[in-house]
Amino acid sequence: MTRAFDHRLDRARSTAGAAGLDALLITPGAALRYLIGYDAIPLERLTCLVLPVVGPATLVVPELEAPAAVASGVGDLRVRLLPWAETDDPVALVAGLVPHARRVGLDDQMWAEKVLRLRAAMPDAEQRPAGAVLATLRMRKAPDEIDALREAGAAIDRVHARMGEWLRPGRTEAEVGRDIAEAIVAEGHARVDFVIVAAGPNSASPHHETSDRVIEMGEPVVVDIGGTTPAGYCSDSTRTYAAGEPPAEFVAAHDALVRAQEAAVRHVMPGVSAGSVDLAARDVLHAAGLGEHFIHRTGHGIGLETHEEPYIVGGNAMLLEAGMAFSVEPGFYLPGRYGARLEDIVVVTDTGAERLNNRPRDLLVL
Ligand code: ZN
Ligand code: ZN
Repeated sequence: MTRAFDHRLDRARSTAGAAGLDALLITPGAALRYLIGYDAIPLERLTCLVLPVVGPATLVVPELEAPAAVASGVGDLRVRLLPWAETDDPVALVAGLVPHARRVGLDDQMWAEKVLRLRAAMPDAEQRPAGAVLATLRMRKAPDEIDALREAGAAIDRVHARMGEWLRPGRTEAEVGRDIAEAIVAEGHARVDFVIVAAGPNSASPHHETSDRVIEMGEPVVVDIGGTTPAGYCSDSTRTYAAGEPPAEFVAAHDALVRAQEAAVRHVMPGVSAGSVDLAARDVLHAAGLGEHFIHRTGHGIGLETHEEPYIVGGNAMLLEAGMAFSVEPGFYLPGRYGARLEDIVVVTDTGAERLNNRPRDLLVL
């Protein structure tokens, strides 16, 4: 991986240079992990990778965090470690490393307090978001990243495969959710990112989490779950279940949802626009009379973050390329009544799409 990280640093430099930036300033988060493999915790004490387009990379790090940085392997990269003591001014250290920078790219998730202190310390440097620069690298996954996403997909599939152990009438969403969370870790994730168990009318709220509502016989239950694997890659998959036979009208609507998702996945290939994948799903739901109830975009990129570029949304003209990974997750939501969603992660191949989630997609009656 050492060479892979050094390669990423070089590509980040050239992409930043092409975007007119003189340096990138990257604080703890997915971008830092992508560039140097350091899964640092965002803290009030400043940790910042200073990556000039020309010149050596430096990790400005609190002295007491330096051993953790070294343990993550940063010492093996072409990155200099610059630990700062409790009485030092780390912002001045960062500014001193790029004294002539006119335009700097700041980590998209840098805390505002740090952004403002850097602005004060570097008054001549225009601040721009670094995210757009890094997204062009991060959204084209390397083979080892696709392997990591495949592992994450298989891990969350194993959790869905066990749903019958937990999901039944008489239990609350929260009870089922706790069992699922335990299984997410047991099946190979380092942490749980989210657990949505939305039963009956709650299924009409796309981002409902869990509640003390008791699941009733015949109700649809949307289960949308994800976690992060030890390698740092995220899973995210949704299936809609029913605890006992649901109303025929719901079954018919869910059939249309399966067709919509299939149409969108079939549409995926290099050279088509992200927006056209959204349209492929939307057309099918529209024809089934559910168009107005499909109230969110069709998908989002996934990698070291659950939501990243490319976004599969109407009007996005970005052309898909082999190696891009994203969710395809159409849904329909009828307020006060019911809803459903079907979500798989796919990766663009040379000729189409590979699904990284492979549980049955029909309505699963438990
Ligand atoms: Zn999801
Ligand atoms: Zn998703």
